[in-house]
Amino acid sequence: MYKQTVDFIKSQFPNQDFIPLHEPRFVGNERKYVMDAIDSTFVSSVGKYVDDFEKQIASFTGAKYAVACVNGTAALHMAMIVGGVKEKDMVITQPLSFIATCNAISYIGASPLFVDVDLDSMGLSAEKLKNYLQEFALKKSDGFTYHKVTNQKIAACVPMHTFGHPCKIDEIGELCKEYNIALIEDAAESIGSYYKNKHTGTFGLLGTFSFNGNKTITCGGGGAIVTDNEALAKRAKYLTTQAKVPHRWEFVHDEIGYNYRMPNLNAALMCAQLEQLNTFVENKRELAKNYKEFFENIRFKFMTEPVNSKANYWLCAVQLSDCKSRNEFLQYTNDNGVMTRPVWALMNRLPMFKDCLHSNLDNACFLEERIVNIPSSVRI
Ligand SMILES: *Cc1c(COP(=O)(O)O)cnc(C)c1O
Repeated sequence: MYKQTVDFIKSQFPNQDFIPLHEPRFVGNERKYVMDAIDSTFVSSVGKYVDDFEKQIASFTGAKYAVACVNGTAALHMAMIVGGVKEKDMVITQPLSFIATCNAISYIGASPLFVDVDLDSMGLSAEKLKNYLQEFALKKSDGFTYHKVTNQKIAACVPMHTFGHPCKIDEIGELCKEYNIALIEDAAESIGSYYKNKHTGTFGLLGTFSFNGNKTITCGGGGAIVTDNEALAKRAKYLTTQAKVPHRWEFVHDEIGYNYRMPNLNAALMCAQLEQLNTFVENKRELAKNYKEFFENIRFKFMTEPVNSKANYWLCAVQLSDCKSRNEFLQYTNDNGVMTRPVWALMNRLPMFKDCLHSNLDNACFLEERIVNIPSSVRI
């Protein structure tokens, strides 16, 4: 069965001896725009590509405003700052995520509060969140929600759309409204993914994307914040550019700022990649369809998009029957020229986060032992 799988994956990526998990594709105007940026000498923080990229990412996602950032982690950190998260606050997130989500929470001096995921979307569970808040949330007279046990403010909730599969973000949004918790979506993996026909990242106060080399579209390193709130967008732009007060020649900085802006060179690359985003997503969905049919026939569980959603299938995933077969599958595929990877170790197991509070994490533990990513690059 593993041999059959390796043969099938190889048939999907012909003429390759080794099949990586996810490769970038630069088959459009990348060279043209990057050369243009070089010729213009505007390679760094100002330039027309940064402005164009911000307009395009806003228009693509349907958000009113977008702020380009140097990477997705910086975008998340900034979103939490402008979203009102403060030192010693708690931020609800899922234990099944890439480390960047929890790192960004930690940069503020806040701590993650882990709530379980759903088995189908692998993202934060609205139902588990509801139960957890009913048991542990205390709404105080200042209008904010505090944790009954630690008395810390629960300042934000950061769900993540795992591998591009949208979680039940509208229900999570309703709960956040009810408890006055800022909803910040870590949409790093889900550019081109929609929930109920609305782009992921646009359901809450703020959303963030990553354009790292392994993501669906990339500019080497890059990220973006999207929001419909003009004041927050302006504040994010200002804080990501060293908190500089606009002036033609004076250096006036009236707050601690960050050098989190995206260079024009990267933005040029990004503009070319954005032109191809729809084609890339359709291409990846076609691969996912082939995988689905194949795995159905050999009775392997392939992770398909949850109901009410359209996923970008950033990284395709299979669910093995137990940890032992997961390990055998990883061994066999990696020994035979097909790169596969297990899902991340749960965040609550890492030494930095082992003392963080959490809900019952049955689903996350179940998936941690069984989920494996398989090659998912755009096929050209
Ligand atoms: C990729 C990723 C990020 C941000 O990554 P950068 O490498 O900083 O761009 C954040 N969260 C998740 C879940 C990611 O997959």
